[in-house]
Amino acid sequence: MVAGGLSACSLPGGPPAGPRKRVIVVGAGLAGLVAGWELGRAGHDVTIVEARGEPGGRVQTLRAPFADGLYAEAGPIFIPDNHDLTLGYVRLFDLPLEPVESRGTGKIYFVRGRRFVVTRGARVTWPVELTPEEESLGLSGMWQKYIGAALEGLGDPRTPGWLADPAIERYDRMNGVEFLRSRGASPGAVALLTLGYPDLSGDGLETNSALLWLRDLALGQTAKQTYAIPGGNDQLPRAFAARMRERILYEAPVVRIEPGETAARVVIRRAGAYQMLRADHVVCALPFSVLRRIEVSPRFSTQKQRAIADLPYTSVARVYLQCRRKFWQEEGLPSSATTDLAIKWIWEPTVSQRGPRGILESYSAGGPAREIAAMREADRIAFALDGVARVYPRLRDSFEVGASKCWDEDPWARGAYAWFRPGQLASLGPHIARAEGRVHFAGEHASTWPQWMQGALESGLRVAREIDEAP
Ligand SMILES: Cc1cc2nc3c(=O)[nH]c(=O)nc-3n(C[C@H](O)[C@H](O)[C@H](O)COP(=O)(O)OP(=O)(O)OC[C@H]3O[C@@H](n4cnc5c(N)ncnc54)[C@H](O)[C@@H]3O)c2cc1C
Repeated sequence: MVAGGLSACSLPGGPPAGPRKRVIVVGAGLAGLVAGWELGRAGHDVTIVEARGEPGGRVQTLRAPFADGLYAEAGPIFIPDNHDLTLGYVRLFDLPLEPVESRGTGKIYFVRGRRFVVTRGARVTWPVELTPEEESLGLSGMWQKYIGAALEGLGDPRTPGWLADPAIERYDRMNGVEFLRSRGASPGAVALLTLGYPDLSGDGLETNSALLWLRDLALGQTAKQTYAIPGGNDQLPRAFAARMRERILYEAPVVRIEPGETAARVVIRRAGAYQMLRADHVVCALPFSVLRRIEVSPRFSTQKQRAIADLPYTSVARVYLQCRRKFWQEEGLPSSATTDLAIKWIWEPTVSQRGPRGILESYSAGGPAREIAAMREADRIAFALDGVARVYPRLRDSFEVGASKCWDEDPWARGAYAWFRPGQLASLGPHIARAEGRVHFAGEHASTWPQWMQGALESGLRVAREIDEAP
């Protein structure tokens, strides 16, 4: 339950807790959609304004140019089973779920020019210098020694005041690599432990607040299985939007926000004309990467302006390679690979999709993602083909068509997800979600689960409650 008698997944349908309000929600991503849905159900008068011609924001499923009805995600892939809000709304809208499985045996790593297919319990001679103890611990033993043990002392990150505890806050003052070194990890161990997931936030683990990473790991600890919506995760925002059709204005980018003490206004551009909308409350459910380009008058507080200007967003470039056959499955190879190449992570989005054809994608972040984004489409595909073929050598015989998604160039996202440099969880964190007069802030960045749909939903529910309970 969230406060005020509102269930985690839905406010009770009317009457409102406070007086009925007129609310403008800016942005029909998951944060804006859930806020609009719950406020509407509680009896408030809601209008959602969205720049794109469709709902969902960063929850995007790509279906073209793929054959045989294949699809891949441009945004979220995984719904961990402890993401109660995401799963709650999936169930509320009667959407199907399927477990995300990897096929093949073991895991593939590509490190310093060599490929390793690692099966459970097998001893690997990694091409990095490790201490004798690290050699005998192996990758999972090192993970437990340097990371797992520290997580045990972190407690529950959702506890109010968690971040202010000096024992916790000290991890915000170091980057992820400094944290590993402080736990005794050798440079070789650091090189192995930062491969893959930790490397997909910001410009790599050494640029991230260690606390951002540790909080994410602590929150993820209780997850046993991940799920996806068969047919595409974009069905979740579409399900919200289909039930609020008459309340959403599409192709209506907000160009100006006017906060006030007793009301607020937004100016939208629609069909070539400007229109001013007035409301008792405005929900700003935009990424700060986009908000920083929107005129705000009178200005927000200095701390809010700083948070909006300084919060960084991760560059992500994904390149999808459709293949005639799922040759990797025929070879019994795993359908994902962790590499130290510029393409970083390889993943098969079609693992549970039928047919002989399949897709392998490369998922790059940080500097390499910006390099890929600077290329022409054909060069992005050629670059990904080169990288992925080093790990799956039969790729070129089977490759048919490619596509890419670079999040920095998406004008309504300008990056994939928020991240925090060392010190920023403490310095920016408290100012991100705080309301400014009648303007309330939602979005993955304004939650305890940044970088996840769960965070977007959590933040949307928080603002719905703020507004519902306001006098
Ligand atoms: C590459 C990638 C991988 C991810 N992987 C996962 C995953 O595996 N699992 C998971 O749970 N999450 C994942 N996420 C995170 C998840 O997608 C986000 O946390 C969530 O979708 C963010 O929702 P939001 O509502 O905060 O923001 P958004 O979805 O960005 O919504 C903001 C909305 O505002 C609109 N907008 C922008 N500018 C304007 C304007 N001027 N006027 C009006 N509207 C405007 C946008 O079009 C958009 O619809 C991933 C995201 C990306 C990009």
